[in-house]
Amino acid sequence: MAMQATSKGNMPVVLLKEGGSETKGRDAQKNNIAASKIVAEIVHTSLGPRGMDKMLVDSLGDVTITNDGATILKEIDVQHPAAKMLVEISKTTDNEVGDGTTSAVVLAGALLENAESLIDQDVHPTIIVDGYRKAGRKAKQFLESISDKISPNDKNILNKIAKTSMQTKLVRKDSDQLADIIVKSVLAVAEKDSESYDVDIDDIKVEKKAGGSIKDSMIVQGIVLDKEIVHGGMPRKINEAKIALINTALEISKTETDAKINISNPQQLKSFLDEENRMLKTMVDKVIGSGANVVLCQKGIDDMAQHYLAKAGIIAVRRIKESDLTKLAKATGARIVTNLDDLFEKDLGSADLVEERKIEEDKWVFVEGCKHPKSVTLLLRGGSQRVVDEVERSVHDALMVVKDVIEKPEIVAGGGAPETYAATKLRNWAKSLEGREQLAAEKFADALEAIPLTLSENAGMDPIDTLTLLRSKQQKGEKWTGIDVMKGKIANMKSSDIIEPLAVKLQIVSASAEAACMILRIDDVIATQKSAG
Ligand code: ADP
Repeated sequence: MAMQATSKGNMPVVLLKEGGSETKGRDAQKNNIAASKIVAEIVHTSLGPRGMDKMLVDSLGDVTITNDGATILKEIDVQHPAAKMLVEISKTTDNEVGDGTTSAVVLAGALLENAESLIDQDVHPTIIVDGYRKAGRKAKQFLESISDKISPNDKNILNKIAKTSMQTKLVRKDSDQLADIIVKSVLAVAEKDSESYDVDIDDIKVEKKAGGSIKDSMIVQGIVLDKEIVHGGMPRKINEAKIALINTALEISKTETDAKINISNPQQLKSFLDEENRMLKTMVDKVIGSGANVVLCQKGIDDMAQHYLAKAGIIAVRRIKESDLTKLAKATGARIVTNLDDLFEKDLGSADLVEERKIEEDKWVFVEGCKHPKSVTLLLRGGSQRVVDEVERSVHDALMVVKDVIEKPEIVAGGGAPETYAATKLRNWAKSLEGREQLAAEKFADALEAIPLTLSENAGMDPIDTLTLLRSKQQKGEKWTGIDVMKGKIANMKSSDIIEPLAVKLQIVSASAEAACMILRIDDVIATQKSAG
């Protein structure tokens, strides 16, 4: 229906085209809040170690089983614009800190639900937004005040952090072993920059293959390539490898312009082919001349060049992804060479072993035993494709939390402890605020407690009893006291090894407060028409 308004002179003014729609004021707010609450409800049963998994079935019937908030929301096709904003925060949280995606959505849902009750009491959304913003900043300060500084390369703590992140996932049983290889890989690629560390998670190559068990997952001190050695006559294994990385083809390049060559007798054809072979031989000779016994090439390798390389006992792999070549350079210390004339011994990298191995039905090349690799591979295994996919997602989160804490070496407890602490502190602080903002700040504090409430609810514990006990213990100064969900009791999270990076907790508060405020500030939802072209 076309939207009409009446001007002063009672003339109807047509604002929106036929088919356009608008929801205004409270209706718009209520509608947005309702949609966001539904999204939060979807993921809330999957929060924590006792959370449930979701089975997502796409239109082709492919099934994903996961309890990772970001994955759940990425896969479901959310249409509502406000709900989409919650999906966005889980994505940003995933990109920023890797973990805490479910918590961010649960918290945003609780903030909006609590805001709704204030709107019902005629508190203006602008006041709520102001109160929430102030409370969000303050909550982060309280979280910072209870964090403990750690040494960024304390393997013991890093292991516990990786394990806490995996407690809530299908890989929990194997988290000891996975945490070990995850911590080793992040420490291998961490770059020290004066005082602090910088970790580029892309330096860790994650390869997965269904088959075997999760326990067969391992770290390779080098790079695994899902490629075969190009020629049957080449060795399958070379110790003390000297590796050339080439991003140019070992082929005769085709001319840019079309050229016609007239060959009128067999002799001419022979000399033409001989010339081609000679050029290929010259290329291979340059490789041999450098002293390389392994050539890893980003482009193609001509059959004849393969033959010459095989005769020289050199292993060659072709069509390697550019990103893998970069990782190989970081792992082996080789320089990527663009022109074979520039290939010398000093450009070669090294590895103890280059070997082609059979992984299930595929053949993969392992470049391993690199001395101080700045890029490594995690080879993930698991009983089925679905299992390795979930292992990969969980390992991604765990890699990210270890990175978070190496870069910002501060930790807090898990199990709802810091949220409960911040909530109690916020309630006291709220008293210092004037007017209705105080109500909003108190609601923010209540929303933080959605985390311990949901953790205990999902574990089948009594949420109210658990929260009141937790609050009273924390009042007595036990800031590390939280809910040990696996044991079903209140406990000291440090002794239970349930610890998390401060960075994740801060991101959860920022992202959820930001999304809630953005949604609350909307009082008009207008369906716009996409302009053509
Ligand atoms: P998210 O996507 O937010 O990380 P999870 O489902 O992974 O969601 O749950 C994370 C929450 O579970 C955190 O609050 C964390 O402290 C808590 N948690 C993890 N392990 C335990 C445990 N053993 N006992 C209690 N809480 C735990």
